[in-house]
Amino acid sequence: MKRRQFLGVAAIAGTGLAMAPTKVMGGISSFTPMVSGENDKPALLGGPKAFPGQFPSWPFYDGQEEQALLDVLKSGKWGRLDGSVTPQFEEEYARMMGLKHSLAVANGTTALYTMLGVFGVGPGDEVIIPVYTFVATYNVVVLNYALPILVDTDIETFQIDPQKMEQAITPATKVLMPVHMGGLPANLDRIMATAQKNNLPVIEDACQAAGSAWRGKTVGSYGIGGAFSFQSTKNLNSGEGGAIVSNDEAFINDCYAFHNQGKGPSSASFVPGEKGTRGSNGRMTEFQAGILRSQLSRLQAQDKRRKRNIEYLNGLFGEIPGITPAKLYDGVTNVSYHLYMFRYDKSHFAGMSRQRFIQAMGAEGINTWSGYGRLNREAYVAGLQQNKHYLKIYGEKGMKEWFERNQCPQNDILTDEQSLWFGQTMFLGSTRDMDLIAEAVRKIQKNAAQLKN
Ligand SMILES: *Cc1c(COP(=O)(O)O)cnc(C)c1O
Repeated sequence: MKRRQFLGVAAIAGTGLAMAPTKVMGGISSFTPMVSGENDKPALLGGPKAFPGQFPSWPFYDGQEEQALLDVLKSGKWGRLDGSVTPQFEEEYARMMGLKHSLAVANGTTALYTMLGVFGVGPGDEVIIPVYTFVATYNVVVLNYALPILVDTDIETFQIDPQKMEQAITPATKVLMPVHMGGLPANLDRIMATAQKNNLPVIEDACQAAGSAWRGKTVGSYGIGGAFSFQSTKNLNSGEGGAIVSNDEAFINDCYAFHNQGKGPSSASFVPGEKGTRGSNGRMTEFQAGILRSQLSRLQAQDKRRKRNIEYLNGLFGEIPGITPAKLYDGVTNVSYHLYMFRYDKSHFAGMSRQRFIQAMGAEGINTWSGYGRLNREAYVAGLQQNKHYLKIYGEKGMKEWFERNQCPQNDILTDEQSLWFGQTMFLGSTRDMDLIAEAVRKIQKNAAQLKN
């Protein structure tokens, strides 16, 4: 597996989207006005770039973050067991989410792992996840020696197919773990109905979706718990960081104990009972919480700007045959866009490959990614069949059957040749930037026959 695929969305930071930190959140400053003629020539064929400027830099910070870091530094209280910044962030985050409780943790992976730990997921259990996700969703299941069951994608929305999710349930299923991919909500009506019918708990992997909402309620509030990530590419950023949200006090207390070596918040005593028999250290630092409090104060304004730009771009792309943005389900009432996901149909581009399109866009000054691949067929995933512990638990035949079960034909089509992404920071500038993105695609389309070779 390529390192880039393994890192998933984090790869965006490593491939040029994240630039030097800056104090301004502006759009680009200089443009070449588009007129027909020479400017119609794609940059790959020697014409001028459609987008000669730079997209807004990421991350954004100012004196607020500087002060917050210095305050923690000088207090000498650097961990959550010493200070009070983390509980303040938890309260503010829960309030923003419209939920009763939140628990800040070291990162999004820890948020998911902690919840699976509280449910006591282990050998012999199955956890249902989408195939189209960051590898962390898969890893947390495997860390518990349970079987991750990878479900096919609804190609129009890029989300887990709710019908195939239901069909994947067996007597061994312990948890449903849908993901809100790119910040776009998965079909929560269908998923929650399936969960109820089968009496299964839902953990929402909302790591890319801080602030997105379904029927007026934030995602992460439908399941027993929701997981969020504050890793550097995510819309709310503290370099590394994460949170669990829940309306269930007993559940969040169990999560606290799990992430604190089995101990409760107010004393050094172990939390009794079966759920207290395993634990870890998943605690957030006060430095992370300090940065997050500042970043949180900007999140909604940034989300609004992204949304405005994306809705505008959707309008422009609506005029371009062969470019289809990911569809939103009817229940979606807000999107905190982490990715702009869309499909490319090469038959409208003179048969030009997706890879060549990405190259042509790059030459125009616009970074475009193919996104996730076939996770179910990655060597990393296939290798689980040879893992000695898995062989001990499930047997050779059991592991073969597991691998065969994870067929995802729609996801194959989507990821092999159609899917494309733009990163969220491209939408923090002006609508003018959107005009130039659409202009680049039009120019490439017009010259596709020539570009193709
Ligand atoms: C980022 C992400 C995670 C993991 O979060 P980290 O903070 O990087 O550990 C899990 N699931 C999805 C869908 C993600 O995008």
